[in-house]
Formats: sequence, C-alpha cells, structure tokens
Amino acid sequence: MNVPPGALAILHRLEEAGYQAWIVGGAVRDALLGLSGHDVDITTNARPDAIQALFSDVTTLDVGKAFGTIRVVWDDGVYEVTTYRAEQGYRDGRHPDAVCFSERIEEDLMRRDFTMNAMAWHPSRGLLDVYHGRDDLARGILRAVGDAEERIGEDALRMLRAVRFAARFSLQLEPSLREAIHTHLSRLSLISAERIADELERMWEGAHAERALSLLMETGLWATLFPTLPAEGVSVALFCAVPRDAAFRWAALGRGLVTQETPEGAATLWPVEGPNVRHRKAQAREMRRLLKQLKLPTKRLDRVSAMLSQPQEPLPQTLKEAQRFVGATSPDTEDIVTFLDAEARARDDAAAEREIALVSAFLAIIKRDHLPTTVGDLAISGADVLAHGIPQGRVVGQVLSSLLEDVIDERVLNTPEALKKALPDPTLFQHHKA
Ligand code: ATP
Ligand code: MG
Repeated sequence: MNVPPGALAILHRLEEAGYQAWIVGGAVRDALLGLSGHDVDITTNARPDAIQALFSDVTTLDVGKAFGTIRVVWDDGVYEVTTYRAEQGYRDGRHPDAVCFSERIEEDLMRRDFTMNAMAWHPSRGLLDVYHGRDDLARGILRAVGDAEERIGEDALRMLRAVRFAARFSLQLEPSLREAIHTHLSRLSLISAERIADELERMWEGAHAERALSLLMETGLWATLFPTLPAEGVSVALFCAVPRDAAFRWAALGRGLVTQETPEGAATLWPVEGPNVRHRKAQAREMRRLLKQLKLPTKRLDRVSAMLSQPQEPLPQTLKEAQRFVGATSPDTEDIVTFLDAEARARDDAAAEREIALVSAFLAIIKRDHLPTTVGDLAISGADVLAHGIPQGRVVGQVLSSLLEDVIDERVLNTPEALKKALPDPTLFQHHKA
C-alpha cells in the first residue's frame, strides 16, 4: 500500500510509545481497488488524551473527543486518529447509546458498516481483514459486517451509505443486506434531513449516479423519501445528461414531478403563460418544497427552481433578445441554458439542440463584448437620474429600464453623455412629487 510519510510517522510514534496503530477504512479499501488519494484514517488503542499528549509538538484538533477522534496536522496533511471503539446499543436507530473505547482492533472493525470498510492495514503486519472485505470487493459484493438486519436496524443511515457505496464501486447488494433495507425503510424517518441530503448529494455527484438512482428505486428507499415524486416519472436519460452537480441532478429529478398543470405530450416551444409554463413553475415550486424539507441551502433551492421554471419561452433568436434573456434570468442564465441543452439531448431533439447552441453563441458574444444586459451595465446610475431632477421612487428604475431598452436596441450609445442626453424631461414627472 502506498502510504503518505505523515501516516507512517504517526503510526511509528504511537507504536514507539507502546500503543498499537493501524490504517483503517476508506484508505485501505481504495488502495485495494487501485485508487489513490483517499484520506488516511488511523485507529489506535491510545485514548484521546494520550493521542493529544503524544502529538503536543504539532497542532491537534479535537473534532470529537467524546467519540475518540483527534485530528493531527502533519507536514503533508491532516490525519484523523481515532481510538478503537466498540459501540453498544442503538435504541434510537441513529446514535450508539454509548461509545466504549476498546483495547482490541477486532472490536473496532466489528462496529464498522461494510466488510470493505472494515479492513485495517499495517506497514509490517499487512492486511487485517477479519470479515473478508477483500474477497467481497473482488466478487463485487457489498456486505454488512455481521448480521445485516441487525446492522441496518442499529443505524438507518447505513441504508443510504449502502446505496452510495454500491453505486460508486459498482457492487451488488448482498441479498440479506437488500432484504434488511427493505425491512427497515420506515426507519429513514429517524435520520436528520441534513444527513439524508448529504448522502443523496454525494450520490448525485459521485461515480455512477444513475446506478445510485436505480438502487434507490429498487430498494424502496426512493418511494419512502419522495412519495410525491413517482419513480416512473423520473427521466433517467435527463438525469444522466445533466452535469455531475447536485443542483442539476435535482432539477433533472424535478422534471418528473406530476403537477395539476401537466401538459399533454412534449412540445419544444410554448406560448408564454401556456400550460407548459405553468406546469414548469409548479414543478419548480414543488421541488423547492422538497429541497427545503431536506434543509438544503437557499442558494441550492434558487438554482434548482430557476432551471425548472425557465421563465422565457420561446428562446432568444437574436443577439438583442439574448441580451434581454440574460437580464431576465441572471445570475442563472448559464445553468438554464445548460439544463435546456441536457433536456434537448435527453429527448434526442436535434432542432432544439441547434436552437440552444445558437443561444450559447449569443451568450459568448455578450460576455466577450461586455454587452449590456441589466441596468447595472448602463454607464449612468440612479444617482445620475436623480441629479437630473427626476423624483425619487419607482420612476427612477423605470427610466433606467427604458434607457437599457434604448441601448440594447442601439438607439442610444452606452456612454454617460449620450444617456444623460436621452433622459426624459423632469417636468414630465412633477405630479409624482406631490
Ligand atoms: P468516503 O470515501 O466516502 O469518505 P469512507 O470509508 O472514508 O468513505 P466515512 O464515512 O468517511 O467513509 O467513514 C470512515 C469509516 O468509518 C468507514 O470506512 C467505516 O468503516 C466507518 N463508518 C462510517 N460511518 C459509519 C456508520 N454509519 N456505521 C458504521 N461504520 C461507519
Ligand atoms: Mg471518509
């Protein structure tokens, strides 16, 4: 195993002081799979206080001393050093009732979730693989450590971890593990929204996201998580066509939402407030609600709903229209166009793809030439409008918007002089002052 020098130095120091220490978890698993670069976690029988004392010459961060984890900051990276643990009882289905430190590595491995995550490695003693994780990996099987039913019952998060790992490493769920997930579906409600969201987004952004999606659906996890988003409605083609980014994946899933406004058949261009647009806005609202329940940040909700609602249809056909499109959709324009493109590709709509390619070309020109798209791009500001004698209030914004129209349509140059000259006569607005 290719181990960074810092990890070896930490192991060495622990052992010199009379403790045992191993590399454990993801780093061992990834090394066996020929993948490099995983964070190296170290497990030891030294207690947290002893770890801190032993590494008092370097920075240590207490990230969960009660759980036995100390982060050691070494020259070449940060290492998590965790005391051997044996967990007891999980009455609430998500937290061990007690964390018991242990003197035996075997006990520490026993509490881990899957056989491939329960391997330890030591530079002179080699691989310690009590649960045959290496064989399972070679056979392509994701297996719980010990009794699957019991392990899933203890900690419901393991259901989602199982799907995430099975997808990422292209593994089959061992049958009793699959069965255990089926049995414990209702326990999902014990897990916090944040942890569910985190697992799902790691699936969306991980390798083989489409396999994660189909595993969620096969196991019944999907229907439990998203009862209003039926699996049949989800377009896997769209889910695969969007970039590997959580916001895009959510938007792709949101297109599967059935709303009161669901249009008949698929069209490419729609009248502005027709059933299609209302349907899209309804999908955006429902997706926003679902993501809010998952306690995702507002920024994520905004991006997803911008992509789903796509306010401007038909798409711009000219550069000037594209400038207005950017003004209306900023800062989400690029997301929207990327998403539209994925939709066109997913339904194999060459005409729509060409139309979107044209929009992308316009966007590139707008960017390159710094063409104005919002009132903020004008060479004068609200202060200039006021200085001109136009009264404070909504009218200032209206004047600027109308100047922007003039600039986009090339009736007025975007220079302070030209714009000031084009300002309307302030006496026209006298009645606003009253
Ligand atoms: P990743 O590359 O996704 O981080 P990882 O193996 O490092 O994979 P972590 O979630 O960082 O996974 O956890 C580190 C180790 O802790 C795991 O390999 C596993 O042995 C153990 N572990 C983590 N979460 C659980 C859990 N819910 N139940 C049991 N063991 C767990
Ligand atoms: Mg990890």
